Amino acid sequence: MQEAYKELKFRLAELSHIGAATSLMGWDQQVNMPPGGAEVRGKQMATLAKIGHEKFIDKKVGELLEQLKPMEEEKGYESVEGSVIRLTRRNYNKAVKVPPEFTARAQKAESESFDVWIKARPANDFKRVQPYLQTNFDLSKEYADFFPGYEHPLDPLIDGYEYGMKAAKIREIFSELRKELVPVVESILSQEPEYFSFMKKIFPGDQQIAFGESIIKEFGYDFNRGRQDMAPHPFTQGTSIGDVRITTRVHEDNFSSAMFSTFHEGGHAMYEQGCDTVFEGTPVRGGTSLGVHESQSRLWENVIGRSMPFWKHNYPRLKQHFPEQLADISLDKFYRGINRVERSLIRVEADEVTYNLHVMMRFAFECDVLDGKLAVEELPEAWKDRMESDIGIRPADDKDGVLQDIHWYSGIIGYFQCYTLGNIMCSQFYDAALKAHPEITDEIGQGKYDTLHNWLKEKIYQHGHRYTANELLKNITGDELTIKPYMNYIKTKYGELYDLL
Ligand code: ZN
Repeated sequence: MQEAYKELKFRLAELSHIGAATSLMGWDQQVNMPPGGAEVRGKQMATLAKIGHEKFIDKKVGELLEQLKPMEEEKGYESVEGSVIRLTRRNYNKAVKVPPEFTARAQKAESESFDVWIKARPANDFKRVQPYLQTNFDLSKEYADFFPGYEHPLDPLIDGYEYGMKAAKIREIFSELRKELVPVVESILSQEPEYFSFMKKIFPGDQQIAFGESIIKEFGYDFNRGRQDMAPHPFTQGTSIGDVRITTRVHEDNFSSAMFSTFHEGGHAMYEQGCDTVFEGTPVRGGTSLGVHESQSRLWENVIGRSMPFWKHNYPRLKQHFPEQLADISLDKFYRGINRVERSLIRVEADEVTYNLHVMMRFAFECDVLDGKLAVEELPEAWKDRMESDIGIRPADDKDGVLQDIHWYSGIIGYFQCYTLGNIMCSQFYDAALKAHPEITDEIGQGKYDTLHNWLKEKIYQHGHRYTANELLKNITGDELTIKPYMNYIKTKYGELYDLL
């Protein structure tokens, strides 16, 4: 039995090495690669993805999993061995349903599509990328059809990001959230907006990076096992527990963009850096679901990084980086500025209150396109209409509309709900942390994050993929997914900011 487990681990380690090479190529594609490399890079990644897939669905892996059933039972659900075997079986049972030829084709299409989108977005040219987007949606449907019996074609896709979650459940949560959120949005947006001219001043990029990096270092991001580079769309890429990289982008006329994206990606990366090394080279490494992942990035970005205690301590320091830009700006004004709620076009720049409406819209479009209710070519207009009815602002072009997010253009469909699920779970987890350690708020006011970081490591990070999102929630909070703590957070924070109480 031990031999079979060793053999399985050896094979999983090899697969993780191939996966790491593919992911490093993907990182390079967005960070370093000269444009001339794009065409062949897509093929290189497709080849590696196919090799990895073929190796994984090898009959021998199935036989090993069969042999290891008694060990899995004997060691138990929470054990390292039990978790590795269970996760491998779950992934294997899915992977055998998908032909490696499809994996290669999808990977190649994704790279090509990404490459066209990179040029089409600044050129505001949806037509140019439309056929690629069509292919990505077609491939998603094709993938879903490898899992017949689904309730909704989005379900098998969602399952890859949020195990066990279904479109119907998301619809239910979203409609509940919408009911609570829309009145808050409306009462804020009906007020006379306060103007924060300092937010639009020029903040030198190198200072923005220096400040952001010094903060995430204090949060606990380990630069010895990570680095930050520039990319068109911020992301985190881990090839092992010892190498979890983040990226950001700098807009000198919008300093909050790089800063909060650094906090955000730093949160993702700390999660992956905090995984127990016993899971290195196995599918248990990483985060449990993309929703939980988002809960961890949003915690540092929003709940900590946009809070008054955090800025009480760090605002004087930020002023040292930008003495002229922030000269006459009080802490209170600054706090209101970085938390202002407004009608805005870009999801990643949106405030905490309207953010979820951006997500709900994308999720609805994915459902509609896969259901055949909406054609890909209709997306740009549908996008503008929905922005107008939901957020009260109509994009003038597609660049700030349907072309804004990287996801669909790099083949990621069925993902957007993770952001909102992340917001919801974030509040549930943070409430549990505060209950266990009420001193956390005061510590943040002193620039100390150890208690919180250690609690997260113990309760969430170290387990990687051992538990499902629901199991984690139950273990930590005693509850299932519930919007109550999140709405409580929004109503308290923004109630104070906008005198809604
Ligand atoms: Zn994120």
